[in-house]
Amino acid sequence: MSNIIFKDVEKKTSVELPENLIFGRNFTDHMFEMDYDPALGWHNPTIKKFSDLSLSPATMALHYAQSVFEGMKAYKQDSGKIAFFRPDQHFKRLNRSSRRMCIPEIDEDLLIESMKELVRLDQDWIPTKKGHALYIRPLIIATDPFIGVRESNTYKYLVMLSPVGPYYPEGFKPVPILATDKYVRSVRKGVGDCKTPGNYGASLAAQREAAKEGYTQVLWLDAIEQKYIEEVGTMNIFIQLKDEVVTPPLLGSILPGITRMSVIQILKDWGYNVNERKIAIGEVIEAYNSNTLVEIFGTGTAAVISSLSKLKYHDTILKFNEEEAGELGTKLYNEITDIQYGRKEDRYGWIQYLD
Ligand SMILES: *Cc1c(COP(=O)(O)O)cnc(C)c1O
Repeated sequence: MSNIIFKDVEKKTSVELPENLIFGRNFTDHMFEMDYDPALGWHNPTIKKFSDLSLSPATMALHYAQSVFEGMKAYKQDSGKIAFFRPDQHFKRLNRSSRRMCIPEIDEDLLIESMKELVRLDQDWIPTKKGHALYIRPLIIATDPFIGVRESNTYKYLVMLSPVGPYYPEGFKPVPILATDKYVRSVRKGVGDCKTPGNYGASLAAQREAAKEGYTQVLWLDAIEQKYIEEVGTMNIFIQLKDEVVTPPLLGSILPGITRMSVIQILKDWGYNVNERKIAIGEVIEAYNSNTLVEIFGTGTAAVISSLSKLKYHDTILKFNEEEAGELGTKLYNEITDIQYGRKEDRYGWIQYLD
C-alpha cells in the first residue's frame, strides 16, 4: 500500500558503529519526514538522508512549544528478526498528546508503516551487543512562520533513529534519587500526561540541583499538596511494600508509560497485589522505618527498570542496596528484556516484527 517517497536514499553496504554508544548522540543515515497543511492534510511521506532542517526563526514550535514526540526501541533478536515493543501503544499515545496540543492526528497505520520502512532501510545500524537497541524518536513540530500565540496551520512530522547502548553502561546499577518540593513537574489538567517538550525544559532546574547534590534523578511530588509521589525523572515509579506493589494512578499529571502498563500486567500475572493508588512520601518513609518497604524502582523505555540506591527527602535519607538492584526490579528487567530480545515467548502479543 506504501506511497512513501524514497528521495536520494543510499543504503550503505556496511555500517561501523562507534565503540561507545552514548544515548541519543548518534543517528542513522536516513530519516522520515512528512508535512501537514490544511488543504492537503498530511502529505509527501518521504524517507530521505538524515539532514539539518531549514526553518524560519519565527517557526512557531520554537517559540511556543506546540510540539509532541515519542520514544521507543527496535531490537535485533538472536534469530536475526527485528522486533518493535508495543509500537501501537506508542503511536496511540503520540496521537493522544497531539490532541491535547491541537496538532492534527496521523493515521496509526501510516505511523507504523513509515517507521518500519525507515528501520528496514537502516537496519544495519541496529547494534547487536547485549542490551543495545535502536532508539526511535518520532517528533511533530508546528511550522507556521508566525510570532503570535495561536494554533499553527502547518506541521512537520519527523522520525529519527539512534543506535543506543544499555542505559547504564556499568550494568544494571541502582541510582540515588532526590525528592523535591521546591519545583513541580506538572499539574492535573495541564500537559504532564503528554510527551510535549515544555514539560522537559521545565524540569531542568530541579535536575541540575539534584545533580549538584550527587543525585541522578528527581522524584516529583504532586503540584497541589507537594505530598503524593508522582514519577521519577522521565520514569514512572513503583513502590513495593510487604503485601502490595503501589504505583501512582493516572490522574492527568503523570505520563502514562508503556513500560508502566507492561509491568502492571506482568505483576498481576505473577500474582502480586498491584494497586494504582495515591501514595504520600510520608507513607513511604513510615514504611521504611517500620521495615515494610521492600524496594522502589522506576520504569521507562530507555532504562526499562531502574532501581533506587537511596532516596533523599528533606533531611531523611532512605537507603537501599547500593550495589545490586532489588529482587523484583531485576526479575522484571529480565522478563521484559527477554520478551524484547526474543529469549522468551511473547505471550502478550507485545512484539511486532519488521516482516
Ligand atoms: C516517556 C516517559 C515515561 C516512560 O514512558 P515509557 O512509555 O515507559 O517509555 C515516564 N515519564 C515521563 C515523564 C516520560 O516522558
